Amino acid sequence: MTTTLAPQEVGHLIGGEWVGSGTAERYNPAHPGELVSVTAVGDASTVEAAVAQPEWSNRTGPARAAVLTRAAELLTVRADRVAVDLVREEGKTLTEATGEVQRAAEVLRFFGAACWRADGETLPSATPFTAVYTRREPLGVVGVITPWNFPIAIPSWKIAPALAAGNTVVAKPAQLTTLSTRRLAECLAEAGLPAGVLNLVHGSGALVGEALVAHPDVAAVSFTGSGPVGRRIHGLASERMARVQLEMGGKNPLVVLDDADPVRAATIAAAGGFGLTGQACTATSRLIVTPRILDAVVEELANIAVRRYLPGDGLDPEAQMGPVVSDGQLTSNLRYLELAKAEGGDVVTGAHAAQGLYQTPAIVTGVTSGHTLAREEVFGPVVAVMAVNDLDEAIAVANDVPFGLSAGVVTNDLRAAHQFAAQIAAGVVKVNRPTSGLDLNVPFGGIKESSTNTYREQGQGALDFYTWTKSVYVGID
Ligand code: NAP
Ligand code: MG
Repeated sequence: MTTTLAPQEVGHLIGGEWVGSGTAERYNPAHPGELVSVTAVGDASTVEAAVAQPEWSNRTGPARAAVLTRAAELLTVRADRVAVDLVREEGKTLTEATGEVQRAAEVLRFFGAACWRADGETLPSATPFTAVYTRREPLGVVGVITPWNFPIAIPSWKIAPALAAGNTVVAKPAQLTTLSTRRLAECLAEAGLPAGVLNLVHGSGALVGEALVAHPDVAAVSFTGSGPVGRRIHGLASERMARVQLEMGGKNPLVVLDDADPVRAATIAAAGGFGLTGQACTATSRLIVTPRILDAVVEELANIAVRRYLPGDGLDPEAQMGPVVSDGQLTSNLRYLELAKAEGGDVVTGAHAAQGLYQTPAIVTGVTSGHTLAREEVFGPVVAVMAVNDLDEAIAVANDVPFGLSAGVVTNDLRAAHQFAAQIAAGVVKVNRPTSGLDLNVPFGGIKESSTNTYREQGQGALDFYTWTKSVYVGID
């Protein structure tokens, strides 16, 4: 299916105005000749203009709630249209994209409701006739830097809590996916967010992103993206002692034990590994299986890959898996498959599919801990199958990577499930559920090199990141 939508201009949003003329072109990954958007390209001076603190922190909680809640309503009403933009710029299926837009609206609603809750606490004092209480106060201006793979959900789960807590925000979306983030900003502006409380800046991470991280008036930076970029941001932010929260890559294991039903296990593995074209930080990328069930799970997973993950344009109702986001990402995915073969793995299924940026879901068996495919994040629909003897070995293999984001186990053995939850090195554990997929009210984040582990995102953890605590003592005698 082709669309006739005209290319969209995406400017910087500064002080309530869309400014700067577009030069960065984004083409639809499903139709590489189809121009989706043209985005302004900024530099350090753009960031300088965007770092501002108009009045917002003095608004009451209910007043801030009204804006976030109205923005949620606007986004809900527009979800179908925004989802089409998202498919065309990033490449999900329409079902996945609609779910993501609805999630962004829910996040706005959740943090709108959070504005109504009491912040701070009252405490007993050791001094007679003294009242003690704490206030949670906003940090000031915060910087938000986001990746392309959830181009509206991730900006919303960083921006909404920041605004709810009374901060002003300067956000830099990934250059590949500026349009979806613009749609979020439009809803907030139309909902009554005062000009300049949320500014958007566009351009390269190295230039615009670093200028934001290094800016002396930016009190905190929340980043989601790759490990090497996270390390760079950590260095820059730490140098000036700015608060920083980084969520990065994963090499997420799904362990399947002998007692599991192979069809159920393969269905869970496919959802985690191939859903969202495998382009999720929590995607299943290692399938670690005990001996008796190994062949049955691989056979079933291969069946599901062919039957239920047919790649195509996300706007085509027949398509079950969208394209890969970019030429560079597709080349990288295919290179990992070649490398896996060279290192002794067996590519059961998975290859470049037809024309365009399409790949069929890949399954590679015979992978062991030393293989590149067992250690490095691919960020595509590629599942490495690793054989182990028992639960203890499965946990040891699962933990033998520098990452620790999400991990799953498929079993009906209660003792094994709890042992796995206790011993696995991961920020999220799933029992009989895919490694991907999160609830918005539950703390989210990784350990090891997947995260700075400073603060969790989502739920209360997000509000903690965007506030600091002031302790007040009042003599009342
Ligand atoms: P990326 O290349 O690290 O980029 C993320 C963002 O950082 C983009 O906006 C990018 O800008 C910007 N950036 C690049 N260099 C920068 C620098 N030197 N200083 C400041 N900002 C800079 O990540 P991606 O390719 O967009 O996304 C894929 C990665 O994100 C994967 O590793 C995935 O695991 C991770 N991810 C993690 C989570 C999580 O919650 N743990 C969730 C989703 C994705 P430009 O790209 O526009 O230059
Ligand atoms: Mg990148």
